[in-house]
Amino acid sequence: MAKYDYDLFVIGAGSGGVRAARLAAMSGAKVAVAEEHRVGGTCVIRGCVPKKFMVYASEFSHHFKTAKSYGWTVEGATFDWQAFLAEKDKEIARLSGIYVRNLQNAGAELAHGKARLLDAHTVEVDKVGTRTADKILIATGGRPWAPKDLPGVELAISSNEAFHLPELPRRIVIAGGGYIAVEFAGIFNGLGVETALVHRGPNVLRGFDDDVRSHLAEEMEKRGITVVLGTQHTAIEKTSGGLLSRFSNGHEVESDVVMLCLGREPYVEGLGLEAAGVKLTERGAVAVDDHSRSNVENIWAVGDVTDRINLTPVAIREGQAFAETEFYGRPTAFDHETVASAVFSQPPIGSVGLSEADARKVCGKVDIYLARLKPMKYAFNGSDERALLKLVVDCATEKVVGCHVVGPDAPEMIQMAAIAIKMGVTKAQWDAACAVHPTLAEELVTMREKFVPMGLGQVA
Ligand code: FAD
Repeated sequence: MAKYDYDLFVIGAGSGGVRAARLAAMSGAKVAVAEEHRVGGTCVIRGCVPKKFMVYASEFSHHFKTAKSYGWTVEGATFDWQAFLAEKDKEIARLSGIYVRNLQNAGAELAHGKARLLDAHTVEVDKVGTRTADKILIATGGRPWAPKDLPGVELAISSNEAFHLPELPRRIVIAGGGYIAVEFAGIFNGLGVETALVHRGPNVLRGFDDDVRSHLAEEMEKRGITVVLGTQHTAIEKTSGGLLSRFSNGHEVESDVVMLCLGREPYVEGLGLEAAGVKLTERGAVAVDDHSRSNVENIWAVGDVTDRINLTPVAIREGQAFAETEFYGRPTAFDHETVASAVFSQPPIGSVGLSEADARKVCGKVDIYLARLKPMKYAFNGSDERALLKLVVDCATEKVVGCHVVGPDAPEMIQMAAIAIKMGVTKAQWDAACAVHPTLAEELVTMREKFVPMGLGQVA
C-alpha cells in the first residue's frame, strides 16, 4: 500500500498550479489539486483575460474618433455595460471549463474547497476532508493589498470587484501607479467614465524606463485622464452624491467609485504554513530556492505566492520547471532574467531588459537610441498622440540590453524583441534585420543616431 494518498497535492488551480499538476499527472503520478474559488485562478477569472476583454471594449471609443477622419460616420454609438459583462463572463466560464477538462484528462483529481496544511504531508480541504501527499506544491497566488488604517477603506473596490460593477460609474478615482492602476484608468476612460488617477510617487510605473513612464503619463492625459502625482488618500467618505476622496495635498474629489490598486500581497492566510514549518520572506511570500523548493524538503511553491516576477507566464514556467525536475527526472530552474512584459494601458507598453537607469548601474556606459513619432494611423486625424521607441545598448559588449516601446501594438512587438535580446543580440546584428514597411516596429531597426539628452550634447 502507498505511504501517502497522492504523489503530489497542489494547493491552488491558477496559472502555476494547473501547469504543474497537469504535467505531473501526465507522467503517471497520482495528483490532486485544491481550489477554493474557480479553476483558472487570477489570470483567467479576475486578471489578465477579463482585463484584456475590458481593454478591447474600451478601445472602441478611440477607434470611433479615428474612424471619422477615415470617412466613416459612427454617430450614435453607445455602450451597454451589462451586455458586455454577460459576454465576458460567458467566455471566462468557457475558459475555466477548459482548464477543468485539461486537468481531468491528464488524470488529476480536483478538490473544491480551501486547503490548509496540517503538517508537511497532510492537507485538509474544507468539505472534502484530509489527504496525505508525498510532495506538496503551494500555488495560491496573490491578492489585492489595501491599507487597513485608511479611514473609509471599506468603501473602495479593488480590481477583483472592477470586473463585476453593477453599473458603469460616471466618475472614478483610481489610486495607485502600477500596471493595474494605469490599465484600469485607460479602461474606464475609454468607456466614457470621468477618470482620475492619483499616485503618491513622482511618476507612474515604478521600475519601468523613465522615458516610458513620463511618456505614458503624458499620453494618458492627452486621452482625457486626470493624472495627479505626489499625493495619496487620507480618507474616503460617503456623501449624498457618492464618495469623497480626501488627499494628503489637501484636495478633495467626489466620485461614484474609488478603486485602490496599491499593490498585491502573497495569499498565504489560513494556509497552515506554520504547522508545516514553511518559512516566509520579509514580504510575506513563501521563501524558495532556484528550483522553487521551500525550506521544508517536500514542499515547493510557484507563482505569485513566491513574489518573484508576478506574471502569468512566469508562474506557468515555474510550475513547469518544478514538474520537469520532480516528475520527469530533468532538473530545471526557470531563468528569471530578461522576462518581457506588457502594460495594456492606452497607448500600451512593451518592455524587455534593462531600463536606461538600471543599465547605467549594471553596464556603466550605455548608448541610447530613441524615437518619438506620430503613429501613421493618426497621420491626418488631428491627434497629437506620439509613440516612443527606445533601445539601450551596453557600450562594452555592444549588446542590446533593453527595448522599450509605447504605442500601438507594443505588446505584440516586444515578444519578438525579447527573443533577440534573450539570445544576446548586438546592435549591429539587430540593425542587420531589414525593416518591415510601413510599420511602427520598423523604427526599431532604423535608429542609427545615438540619443544625447539635452544639455549633455555640448560637453564633448
Ligand atoms: P493565481 O492565478 O492567483 O492562482 C492561485 C489560485 O489559488 C486561485 O485560484 C485561488 O483561488 C487559489 N487558492 C488560494 N489559496 C487557496 C487555498 N488555501 N485553498 C485552495 N485554493 C486556494 N499577468 C500577466 O502576465 N499579464 C497580464 O496582463 C496580467 N494582468 C493582470 C491583471 C490583474 C487585474 C491582476 C490582478 C493580475 C494580472 N496578472 C497579469 C498577474 C497574473 O494574473 C498572476 O501573475 C498569475 O495569475 C499568478 O498565477 P499563480 O498560479 O501564482 O496564482
